[in-house]
Amino acid sequence: MSAAILDGKALAARIQAELTCEVQSLQERFGRPPGLSVLWVGENPASAAYVRNKNKAGQAVGIDVAKSQHLKTSTSETQLLALIDRLNADVSVDGILVQLPLPEHIDSDWVLNRIAPEKDVDGLHPVNLGRLVRGEPGLRSCTPAGVMRILSEAGVPLAGRTAVVIGRSILVGKPVALMLLEKDATVITAHSRTADLAAITQMADVLVVAAGRPELVTAAMVRPGAVVIDVGINRFTDYEGNSRLVGDVDFDSVREVAAAITPVPRGVGPMTVTMLLANTVQSYKQRLIE
Ligand code: NAP
Repeated sequence: MSAAILDGKALAARIQAELTCEVQSLQERFGRPPGLSVLWVGENPASAAYVRNKNKAGQAVGIDVAKSQHLKTSTSETQLLALIDRLNADVSVDGILVQLPLPEHIDSDWVLNRIAPEKDVDGLHPVNLGRLVRGEPGLRSCTPAGVMRILSEAGVPLAGRTAVVIGRSILVGKPVALMLLEKDATVITAHSRTADLAAITQMADVLVVAAGRPELVTAAMVRPGAVVIDVGINRFTDYEGNSRLVGDVDFDSVREVAAAITPVPRGVGPMTVTMLLANTVQSYKQRLIE
């Protein structure tokens, strides 16, 4: 068996085309586009690429990203908090995202918690995470939301199925486990202290892998016919110095046993930025319509 490929890039393009139409009609109705401010402090090169990508994707669907800012490494925590306060009060800004990691002299939790929950388009504010725990509507963190959208668009049944999530981070593992639970899956979370990981993963009808360990999951760990979602993004350099992105799943072997699998790249990654745009539009509508 060779697994169906769940093409996150194609799905992301389709959702972004739908968002473009929606943003246009919202702009005509309310006289302004949704506004997103991405704040990036320092010179981390990976962050530079992520921020560029977010702003570019926002612009492409018609979101106003003019209030995104790149701040010097020497920016103090007080200055950043004051900027967030101004953006919280700015009626033209619907979404605020602080790109992580922040320089060491700035407390990330303190900064993320300062964002108004209704503008927290990354879904990492304790209020939004708390809403997720309580099963209440709210802004949902982008990567887990992207995973859930891939599963729903592929028509993967979740109610009553066993879902295993490898990873328990606040960014991915924990929220994705809660979202699967919300859809009535029976959820097991595995992590670095899990004994006999393979025995756990072999139980999975749906396996979501977010460990940040290149090719951790091999074919022998996957139940035949399972759906495998690979969240991992790892840069792998071979002995000849050639570099490429790999996931947390050994794609070539696992695709021979799984029913469906996301590739890396072109899988979850493009859905993360798309969910950020969707959250910005959701926040705009909540503030202007509801
Ligand atoms: P993280 O904060 O480092 O968390 C990794 C989790 O995996 C931890 O809970 C850790 O367990 C667990 N883990 C590590 N090694 C393990 C092992 N050998 N067996 C079982 N569990 C193991 O990472 P993250 O932020 O969640 O990100 C995970 C991966 O997703 C990374 O590759 C990251 O680049 C990628 N990512 C991708 C996107 C996207 O858009 N596609 C977005 C965000 C992240 P402990 O808790 O016990 O340490």
